[in-house]
Amino acid sequence: MPQRAKRAADRYYSHVGPRFSCCYCDEPAEQVDHATPASWLHYNLHLIEDWRFYSVASCADCNAKAGASFDLTFRERRARIARAVRKENTKLLSAPRWSDDELDEMGSLMVAEIVKAMREKERVKRRLKVLESRSIPEGVPNDMLMRREMAEA
Ligand SMILES: [Zn+2]
Repeated sequence: MPQRAKRAADRYYSHVGPRFSCCYCDEPAEQVDHATPASWLHYNLHLIEDWRFYSVASCADCNAKAGASFDLTFRERRARIARAVRKENTKLLSAPRWSDDELDEMGSLMVAEIVKAMREKERVKRRLKVLESRSIPEGVPNDMLMRREMAEA
């Protein structure tokens, strides 16, 4: 989408929720997710003149997985991200737990790799716990990702 069109669409957004942590998974936020994709708005401006939409803080991974798909509610968007995170990490999540005895038998490079993978697995599990929860971050409107703006009197 051209830069100018992006700026035109920007006035339809309000930033809601926490600023520094991802609204979807609670990891540190690096980006802003237009919870209703700006590209969707761009092609439907005639339909949405008096509607306003939300943007939220997001980590790069949630933002990429949310993508330019349209979701009606925050929970639907987050659930879609959760499914993508789970699918991408199927192998990691089913990785076995090694005992200390087993680790003692291995070379240090191998152990370092396993420890790294186990840390990543714990991080993914933390994210999924938030992504698959029912609670909504403070400041994010309950469910709906859009609201009708009442015309000024
Ligand atoms: Zn995230």
